[in-house]
Amino acid sequence: MLEIRNLHVKLEEEDKEILKGVDLTVEAGRVHAIMGPNGSGKSTLSYVLAGREGYEVTEGEVLFLGQNLLEMEPEERAAAGLFLAFQYPVEIPGVGNMTFLRTALNAQRKARGEPEISAADFLKLVREKARALKIDADMLKRPVNVGFSGGEKKRNEILQMAVLEPKLCILDETDSGLDVDAMRLVAEGVNALRSPDRGFLVITHYQRLLDHIVPDVVHIMADGRIVKTGGPELALEVEKNGYADILKEVA
Ligand code: ADP
Ligand code: MG
Ligand code: MG
Repeated sequence: MLEIRNLHVKLEEEDKEILKGVDLTVEAGRVHAIMGPNGSGKSTLSYVLAGREGYEVTEGEVLFLGQNLLEMEPEERAAAGLFLAFQYPVEIPGVGNMTFLRTALNAQRKARGEPEISAADFLKLVREKARALKIDADMLKRPVNVGFSGGEKKRNEILQMAVLEPKLCILDETDSGLDVDAMRLVAEGVNALRSPDRGFLVITHYQRLLDHIVPDVVHIMADGRIVKTGGPELALEVEKNGYADILKEVA
């Protein structure tokens, strides 16, 4: 589903290489977690996959469902089924949550050559998804993320995911900002959306989140590279001993 090969990325503004040869493959139906110390390049990787400006790919390639992801516009990536949930969900004053969701969904459908969803069908779809995720109908009418609590933003992110039905979901979580309830929400949302034809890349600093989302594969990132890959036990090892032992072992 996602194949990252020898990805090198530097900042456009500075001559600073941040990703120094990332290799990573995510298969459909599997949850991959990336852990790693602060500053190792985890968020940079998710930004580059999203197509955010300010980064220059100097080497390597990224294939998403066989297509060259790096040549696609951010909207094309979304239309192809890539979804990124970010550490700090943006607030969009003046745009109702429903309108935002419908616009996003229709953009995706348009890019796939599908007709727009009717207002009635959309309402039915969103209500259904919101109910399943125990999301209050009120939240659907409010402007996107404006004045939302941390937990509500998380819930909303999961709702976006449920409505857009992406093929690959990338979640970059600063666990520091996630309380236990918000973490459980994210985990329940992810677990509810796990399916044989959907892949997940969950980026997290601590093991806690992975108590609730049990990953199939765990990668450790350090200094711009994936330095170790294993099963869920790798996350437990990090929780117990921190990163020092692993970093020493791979040095
Ligand atoms: P992580 O998410 O693993 O904590 P980041 O991807 O946020 O790591 O950062 C990786 C490294 O790149 C850090 O050393 C960080 O300071 C640096 N970095 C990232 N973005 C910028 C930027 N826009 N300007 C300067 N340094 C940056
Ligand atoms: Mg960081
Ligand atoms: Mg980060």
